[in-house]
Amino acid sequence: MNRDRALVIFSGGQDSTTCLYWAKKHFRQVWALTFIYGQKHITEVAHAQKIAENAGVVWDKMDASFISTLSQNALTDPSVKMDKEKPADTPPNTFVPGRNMFFISMAAVYARERGIYDLVTGVSQTDFSGYPDCRDSFIKSMNLTLNMAMDEQFVIHTPLMWMDKCETWGLADELGVMDVIANDTVTCYNGIPGDGCGECPACKLRRRGLEKYLDLKIRKNTYG
Ligand code: ZN
Repeated sequence: MNRDRALVIFSGGQDSTTCLYWAKKHFRQVWALTFIYGQKHITEVAHAQKIAENAGVVWDKMDASFISTLSQNALTDPSVKMDKEKPADTPPNTFVPGRNMFFISMAAVYARERGIYDLVTGVSQTDFSGYPDCRDSFIKSMNLTLNMAMDEQFVIHTPLMWMDKCETWGLADELGVMDVIANDTVTCYNGIPGDGCGECPACKLRRRGLEKYLDLKIRKNTYG
C-alpha cells in the first residue's frame, strides 16, 4: 500500500493550512480537498485554491452543499445571527451538524480512488469550541468506521488535536509558514482574510493565540 501520499481536508483557514504544510513535510505527494457546503463566504474557496497552488500541492473542490439544507446554523444560513460568545451547555450556532462526518467520509472515498490512505484534518480538541465532531474520540471512531466500510487501512492524522491556538502558531513557525498563515488564510466567520474582522469568536481565538505565541517567543529570545 502506498503511504507516501496524503489528502488534507482543506478549508484555507489557519488550522487546515498549517496541516497542509505539516503534510508536505511528512508525505511526498499532497492533495488538498476543499468542500463547498453552502458556506456564506464563498470567497473562502478561492482563497483555499490560491493557498494550495502557492504550496505546490494538488487542489480540488467538491460539492457538499446538501449539508446546508439539512440543518439551520449560522455558518450557512444568512438569517441566523452568530453567537458572540459560546453558550454554556450547547454547541454554538456555528456548529454544522454532521459536517466533519460527511467531509471525512467523502474525502476517504475520493482518496481511495487515488490510492491515498492517509487523511489529514485540522480538528482540535484543546480549544474545544463545543463541536463534538472535533474530538479525538470522534476521529478514532470515524477512522474505524472508514476501515470497516471499505475494508481498508486508512489513517486519519490530526496534528493539531492536542494543540491550542498558541501552539498551532508555534507549529506554523517551525514549518516556516507564519507569513502564509498570517496573511493568506481565512479563519474569520465573516470571511475576512488575514487578521479578519477582529470581532467574531474565531478571530478572537486566533488573535489571542498569536499574541501569546509572540509573547513567549520574545521572552525566549530575550532570556534564553
Ligand atoms: Zn472575524
